[in-house]
Amino acid sequence: MKVYKKINVPAKTKKVIDKKVCDICGQSDGFNEGWGSVKETDVTHRYGSCDPDGGGSGKQIELDICHTCFENVLVPWVKGFGKTKIEYEDWDC
Ligand SMILES: [Zn+2]
Repeated sequence: MKVYKKINVPAKTKKVIDKKVCDICGQSDGFNEGWGSVKETDVTHRYGSCDPDGGGSGKQIELDICHTCFENVLVPWVKGFGKTKIEYEDWDC
């Protein structure tokens, strides 16, 4: 037989993203603007090792860059290295 008692369990706290702030301009309004809006930029550099059988580890650097800075800062910067044609591709949800 098990005898139970009631105890208080403290609420857990969890770290969640409240908002994104652009690492270039410092603004937070250049990201998704509500339900259905998509303005995403992923700039991530990962390095480390992965075992084909599973496991592995490494480090990553992730930059949060708003849509405007991606278009007006990053794309022209890349073009400055001689890449004159940057193609946009269609995507689906
Ligand atoms: Zn920005």
